[in-house]
Amino acid sequence: MSNLDKFREETKEWLDKNCPPSMRSGADPKTPVDEVWGGRNAEYKNPESKLWLDRMGEKGWTMPTVSKEYGGGGLTKDEVKVLNEELFSIGAKLPLLSFGIWMLAPVLLEYGTEKQKKEHIPKIIKGEIRWCQGYSEPGSGSDLASLSTKAEDKGKNFLVNGQKVWTSYADKADWIFALVRTGPKEPKHDGISFLLIDMETAGVTTKPITLISGKSPFCETFFDNVEVPKENLIGELNSGWTIAKKLLQHERAFISNFGLASGMGSKRDIVSIAKKTSW
Ligand SMILES: Cc1cc2nc3c(=O)[nH]c(=O)nc-3n(C[C@H](O)[C@H](O)[C@H](O)COP(=O)(O)OP(=O)(O)OC[C@H]3O[C@@H](n4cnc5c(N)ncnc54)[C@H](O)[C@@H]3O)c2cc1C
Repeated sequence: MSNLDKFREETKEWLDKNCPPSMRSGADPKTPVDEVWGGRNAEYKNPESKLWLDRMGEKGWTMPTVSKEYGGGGLTKDEVKVLNEELFSIGAKLPLLSFGIWMLAPVLLEYGTEKQKKEHIPKIIKGEIRWCQGYSEPGSGSDLASLSTKAEDKGKNFLVNGQKVWTSYADKADWIFALVRTGPKEPKHDGISFLLIDMETAGVTTKPITLISGKSPFCETFFDNVEVPKENLIGELNSGWTIAKKLLQHERAFISNFGLASGMGSKRDIVSIAKKTSW
């Protein structure tokens, strides 16, 4: 038996034992369905949603190609293909929806320090921290590089002041990855930095934006004299535009692949997510 065949057998066995009945096709349609985004304040209507997240997170299989030292599955591409086939064959639900997985973790792996990777990636993989994206600002949407939320150097910390808009699920997120202006005198693309901010920091507030439907995932996010440790800067000072663009590539790749290349989203998942999506 080849190594890959052996891996398939082990995976089948593991899924048989660990994928709860309501997390696979054939589940009782009356079972409550959760949209699992994880995070500090996550609530679950179905305890098996949490169990499935915990088991997949522990295994590192929410980011199966990431190395084990960062909490990932450490699988090869061929093994991931097998894993996805086996998940697909039982109609397994995605254990976790996550901006951390789709956008932030890939750029942390590329641009983060060892300390930053070890601090943030395992929590993303386990769904312990929910992230939101602080890019757009009033007046800086299409022309994103004109953004004006400023982060001033105050020694140990940056002092952040400004506003973001269209921040999806900011009111539910634990941390935000934000683009901030650190070089007000530099040409606009050269004065931006990529900063991680804990939403519980004093001075961070969010306000939901209600759409005509009465619902919305969107928020305004305000930073009012927010002190952010300098260790939360990703990459070099004023080099955030490069990181921002790379993150957008991951975001677009995710959007185009969602539920298809991953092989995990069964047809039922995609339809149910589409029906529940509120914008
Ligand atoms: C579903 C969804 C989720 C989002 N989630 C987030 C999020 O989590 N975080 C975040 O930061 N952002 C988020 N955004 C915002 C998004 O990424 C864009 O930045 C934002 O929608 C565009 O900015 P704006 O609304 O100010 O539009 P504008 O920049 O005002 O553009 C409005 C229109 O004018 C056109 N236009 C603009 N400039 C020119 C020009 N010079 N010449 C001709 N036409 C022009 C544009 O093409 C567009 O059609 C989200 C958007 C959507 C739709």
